[in-house]
Amino acid sequence: MIIVVKNSCDKKQYENLVEWVKDLGLDVHESHGQTSTVLGLVGDTSRVDIDLISSLDIVEQVQRVQEPYKNANRKFHPEDTIVDVGGHKIGGDNFTVIAGPCSVESESQIIEVAKAVKASGASMLRGGAFKPRTSPYAFQGLKDSGIELLLKAKQETGLPIVTELLSVNHLDLFRDVDVIQIGARNMQNFELLKEVGKTGKPILLKRGLANTLQELLMSAEYIMAEGDCQVILCERGIRTFETMTRNTLDLSAVPVLKDKTHLPIIIDPSHATGIAKLVEPMSLAAVGAGTDGLIIEVHNDPKRALCDGAQSLDPMQFNTLMGKIQTMLPIVGRKNVN
Ligand code: PEP
Ligand code: MN
Repeated sequence: MIIVVKNSCDKKQYENLVEWVKDLGLDVHESHGQTSTVLGLVGDTSRVDIDLISSLDIVEQVQRVQEPYKNANRKFHPEDTIVDVGGHKIGGDNFTVIAGPCSVESESQIIEVAKAVKASGASMLRGGAFKPRTSPYAFQGLKDSGIELLLKAKQETGLPIVTELLSVNHLDLFRDVDVIQIGARNMQNFELLKEVGKTGKPILLKRGLANTLQELLMSAEYIMAEGDCQVILCERGIRTFETMTRNTLDLSAVPVLKDKTHLPIIIDPSHATGIAKLVEPMSLAAVGAGTDGLIIEVHNDPKRALCDGAQSLDPMQFNTLMGKIQTMLPIVGRKNVN
């Protein structure tokens, strides 16, 4: 349920209303806008007397929210959420590019890629230290030493780091990680979602291979219900009957999610297509569709990559793509990559 309160209202009356709602055992999410304040009520609202609240003169409107996601709902928070990662802003009219290898392979590899993507204007460095591989015999990542190498790359370049958490047992190792990624395969690992929600860190939540957008929003809700509102949604392609691409990029997810939620949404054209030469056209299409950013796999030597080489751009290709993205941004009303 949402209660829209007039901004001109008496402060004491406003406080009394919030207090009264809290006394009903509900959580109250306050969103202060230009002309009105929206109170989002989370919990069992069946005992709330809508007519009584509507009759208060400080109240403009009361509305039941049918969707099961509340904190993530744009009705609760009409303005875009802007997630701040070390001064880099995601959401609103900002644009973010996260780039780096699928997995951290060595110190020289991650430092070389970090320097290259930084020089091309990337906002953040990605790199997997713990890799969720289909085969137990495939490279599983450098694990804790991979995190250390990412932190070294951050020290060298100043780029915040984004890396995937696979298990709550590893949370301690992620203390200095800027953005925790929850991968597609863990989108509905609810215990993991609850634990990352307690960290208060920015969380990059990827859509599952076979999950609906509503399920993605419900997973965001799990994180937000723990008090962490810094969630970045990521569409990375879904399973369809098509076999010519690794997955099918659901670009309509961008405008649909923009309508349903205030959270920023970014596109991963690398995992969506699985093919390096498709990364540029799908990135530019995503910019056109209104994405808040991109996460792109870049490797210094894609042919020798230990993971996802076929979909990785080399630094030159990434540089060319960044130029095209920067050219497009003013056309879609976005600031330069920050
Ligand atoms: C990744 O980003 O390296 C990754 C494993 O992505 P996804 O969870 O989308 O497959
Ligand atoms: Mn990958």
